[in-house]
Amino acid sequence: MKIKNIRAREILDSRGNPTLRVYLETEGAEFIAGVPSGASTGKHEAVELRDGEKRLSGKGVLKAVEKIEDVISPELEGVPVTDQKEIDEKMCELDGTDNKSELGANAMLGVSIAVTKAGAFYKGKPLYEYISDLAETESKMPRPLLNVINGGSHTGGGVDFQEFMLAPDEKSFEENLFRAVEAYHKLKEELKKQNSSWINVGDEGGFVPGLETPEEVLSLLGKVTDMEIVLDVAATEFFNGAFYKTKMGKMGTDALIDYYFKLVEKFPVIGIEDPLEENDFESWAKLSQKLENTLIIGDDLLATNPKRIKKALRKQSCNGMILKINQIGTITESLEAAELAKENDWKIIVSHRSGETTDSFIADFAVGIGSEFIKTGAPARGERVVKYNRLLEIGEELNL
Ligand code: PEP
Ligand code: MG
Repeated sequence: MKIKNIRAREILDSRGNPTLRVYLETEGAEFIAGVPSGASTGKHEAVELRDGEKRLSGKGVLKAVEKIEDVISPELEGVPVTDQKEIDEKMCELDGTDNKSELGANAMLGVSIAVTKAGAFYKGKPLYEYISDLAETESKMPRPLLNVINGGSHTGGGVDFQEFMLAPDEKSFEENLFRAVEAYHKLKEELKKQNSSWINVGDEGGFVPGLETPEEVLSLLGKVTDMEIVLDVAATEFFNGAFYKTKMGKMGTDALIDYYFKLVEKFPVIGIEDPLEENDFESWAKLSQKLENTLIIGDDLLATNPKRIKKALRKQSCNGMILKINQIGTITESLEAAELAKENDWKIIVSHRSGETTDSFIADFAVGIGSEFIKTGAPARGERVVKYNRLLEIGEELNL
């Protein structure tokens, strides 16, 4: 089955910003992909191509549409849809930059996802199984991390830390999800009792209570659940070049490290994502050493980029990796990043973006690469639950 044509259009993401929908046409079939977009984006992520003009606050993606239709599509016509690696390499070659700024990582990812979907269809396999063939690894159901309290740049004035995620650990995916759902609703009741406006939600569907400190949030979570917790601090967002500017006052790196030590002692926090700013590999290593039994997870630090992953491995900066396919821009490179992490016994967390579409691709991707975790927001909001709902279906198929 060969590629006949690829076209794209502007659609809206979950924040009301323009993003891409890509349509890949083969003889008699069409495969559609949606491209997500972050807010607390790392400096080292591959570049999204945006129009940068007045229209839609400069966020339009018409230039990216043009790149797909005028540059990528003509080059890929007639190529078998199962040539994932060759197709992704061809796009990288056409782009010719280090950060995908010529074609745009958004344009490239939309095409790359659509190609994977087409390949699975041609092989007559469920998408996750086809991805596990590409990754040469066993499928596995990931443990979900559900972001029930939103903060940082996913809110207007929430707590400094961006995400407070429940990490249920039951026998099946379905049990995990439903246990977290029960806690989400219990939390809502508790928040409503304290202040009815606290049940308003942020970009990822988690509540935004008017609390000041992470400790207050963790205490509140402890009132409704004894589940383990993973934090995404997204520390670069409140680092000003010299210190961390928090609602608790200015904090230096050592003070913040001590604070994490205290949190881990007091609360069931099993993992911390982006605890420190995205370039400080050395302080990350210091923290990792101090909290040796905690998952220290690189997101902005690594940007799903094999070069930065290798640097973090050399410096022993972390032991977990966020995998965001749009940070690197192709499925083949995402698989390479996953392989590198696995070879080095890091835990992988496949992740959505705060600006999402209703494409559930990452659910199949997480299962296909056998990641330990997936984070895709609260168990609320269509663009988040579409991934959890897809995982329910896959769990049933795999009986896991
Ligand atoms: C994150 O930081 O992990 C995240 C999902 O947020 P964003 O997509 O805004 O980077
Ligand atoms: Mg993050």
